[in-house]
Amino acid sequence: ALQEPWRDFDRSKVYLADLDSALHYLLRVEMATHTTLEGEELQVFKDFVTMVAKLYPGGAWVVKLMETLSDWLLSLPLQRIPYQAVLDLVDNKMRISGVYLGAELHWVGCQGSRAGLRGYPCSLWTLFHVLTVRHEATPTALDNTGVQLGSAPVLQVMRRYIRTFFGCEVCGRHFEQTAADSLDSVQSREEQILWLWRTHNRVNNRLAGSLSDDPLFPKSPWPSTSLCSSCHEEKNGVHVWNHDNVLHFLQRHYGNANLSPRYSL
Ligand code: FAD
Repeated sequence: ALQEPWRDFDRSKVYLADLDSALHYLLRVEMATHTTLEGEELQVFKDFVTMVAKLYPGGAWVVKLMETLSDWLLSLPLQRIPYQAVLDLVDNKMRISGVYLGAELHWVGCQGSRAGLRGYPCSLWTLFHVLTVRHEATPTALDNTGVQLGSAPVLQVMRRYIRTFFGCEVCGRHFEQTAADSLDSVQSREEQILWLWRTHNRVNNRLAGSLSDDPLFPKSPWPSTSLCSSCHEEKNGVHVWNHDNVLHFLQRHYGNANLSPRYSL
């Protein structure tokens, strides 16, 4: 693949271009390997689309696309649908006004130092962190949507999506194991945010120094002290996290006010 020109960015920001690119890749590349959707797959996809339609913090065109897709999926009497019908809608073949999702990958905060590093998996983590924070900020957004998945709906949708569609199957198995072990303990929207942070750090830990590690973005406990010094404490000479401060940091970092439209179309 052609290496795109480097885009300067600020590591303390979250970029809408990465979120839009995540949806583009998910809908037009990852899902394309499933020629028909039925049963569990169809249910998982419906829940994902409906949740994103309600919680996506991005541009009005993308939100309208996700709403259109969600309304269509929920109104269909069919038990199975061809992926091509989804793609036609994503590409807006019906020319509904105000609906659009760019068909390019524009990685910014998720750029890799060479092709094949970072990109989509980075953006998928970012998307779900953003959704956990949005869900906490807008607690009633999922009411009456049919997405009824207990006290951690964002994590349940993520878990099912990863298990069913995520291209990296080893990743899916690891994530499913962690979810099976501890997702039941999540009882609040705040815990939902922290669970995803903790689980992501476990993955970072496991992958530090591995082949998928980008030398420009080495895996390490996140947030670093430079991003959030009050997140870190020392007790009896041992590093501990200050969970209240971590929660506040995550709410700010992944919150609307920290989303940058730079480089997005
Ligand atoms: P990523 O880990 O993708 O993180 C993206 C960004 O999120 C970072 O740049 C940082 O800004 C922020 N961030 C980092 N840590 C945290 C945190 N704890 N909380 C909140 N924000 C944070 N790869 C494998 O090789 N094996 C696996 O088993 C595996 N499992 C995965 C499971 C899932 C659900 C996903 C989405 C991906 C998985 N991957 C796995 C891919 C891997 O985790 C990385 O996404 C990939 O290596 C790219 O890494 P990255 O440097 O872009 O940072």
